[in-house]
Amino acid sequence: MENGGRRAEEILAFDRKHLWHPYTSIEKPLPVFLVESADGCRIRLNDGTELIDGMASWWSVIHGYNHPRLNNAIKEQVDTLAHVMFGGLTHEPAVTLAKILIEHMPPGLNRVFFCDSGSIAVEVAMKMAIQYSFAQGINGKNRFLTLRSGYHGDSFHAMSVCDPIGGMHSIYKGVLPEYYFADTPRCRFSDAWDESDIDSFENLIRKNHQRICGVILEPIVQGAGGMRFYHPQYLRKVRELCDEFEVLLIADEIATGFGRSGELFGCDHAGIVPDIMCLGKALTGGYMTMAAVMAGEHVGRVLSKNEPGVFMHGPTFMANPLGCRVAIASLELLFDSDWRQRVKAVESVLKKGFAPCNQLETVADVRVLGAIGVVELKQPVNMERIQKRFVEHGIWVRPFGKLVYVMPPYIIQQDELEFLLAGIRKVLEIEADS
Ligand SMILES: *Cc1c(COP(=O)(O)O)cnc(C)c1O
Repeated sequence: MENGGRRAEEILAFDRKHLWHPYTSIEKPLPVFLVESADGCRIRLNDGTELIDGMASWWSVIHGYNHPRLNNAIKEQVDTLAHVMFGGLTHEPAVTLAKILIEHMPPGLNRVFFCDSGSIAVEVAMKMAIQYSFAQGINGKNRFLTLRSGYHGDSFHAMSVCDPIGGMHSIYKGVLPEYYFADTPRCRFSDAWDESDIDSFENLIRKNHQRICGVILEPIVQGAGGMRFYHPQYLRKVRELCDEFEVLLIADEIATGFGRSGELFGCDHAGIVPDIMCLGKALTGGYMTMAAVMAGEHVGRVLSKNEPGVFMHGPTFMANPLGCRVAIASLELLFDSDWRQRVKAVESVLKKGFAPCNQLETVADVRVLGAIGVVELKQPVNMERIQKRFVEHGIWVRPFGKLVYVMPPYIIQQDELEFLLAGIRKVLEIEADS
């Protein structure tokens, strides 16, 4: 124990001095906690503290940590084929995964591009849209239209369609491409639909469609750009306008995919089919970094028919067999389970558990959709202080700005979820008093 404690101190000291963490100063980093292991919905720290996980490691660990079937999938695959280049070669895990994905996709999305991460999937989808109009010989139709408050990843082109303020476009001015931003949808998921909500988007696409090759958005749930849930009718209108002006619709389902919002995909709330869909995060149950871009047949056809006739992308770790195998296992687990019921059950506990937060002076809004629960505060949190308090209450919650939110693994038990929500309420009460 004595030794373990010293070892932990050394690890943390080295980390503090040398390792960058997400959105963190390297000179004055906030404290991090040292994880020893994780199992189910529990994260175990080096000092033995157990935390109930509210984050599913950013939307991804939907079946919980250390799942025997996912562990075995990787163990078996590693002894057969850990990796091989995808140029000129293929393998069964890639084909099987593509089959499962196509089977569960909205109809028509049956051309699959595997890549390494969500951000890269967004890059790939945007490149497809540009090549789509290039291949048709249309000049200058190579810009994008997106929504304010969106988030699409941290790589360069993904950044260009993130919210301009939240995404700090000012830093990259003159370097980042400048695209069209429609106002954030105001009409909430379960509000009565207000026709004027689409005006900003409609005006932009009407006026600039000759320059716009693609619309990219997060269907229904705007995630890291503000955790907002908007109206399905908005999405239907977007689909209609994209059809009218021959603009490809790219649905970024990297966060919403695989049941998180209560439907298998965010698009399913509106019953629409995008031209291109990006998948990531929960695809491998949070085990490996892996993403997929699902494109409609027409996208593949047009790209292939004309110059240059090929899609210009091919990452080193494309369709990595370990990633494919664990994704197959994760999707089998999902589709063999009563995920819809589970997400519904999580939703109703979240609604009940978060409702009392409305009474706090410090709270601006509470909202829940599927297995996503959000408490929006009036002021940004003091990250260091609140993070420590969550850990002291035995829960893992990672707020950003004014948002305290959870998206637990689907397998979370009711008592674990109630413990998590009670902890959040308690910490928010303490925070409100301090
Ligand atoms: C997380 C996320 C991304 C980026 O995925 P990474 O794997 O972190 O690169 C893109 N779009 C959405 C909607 C996301 O939530």
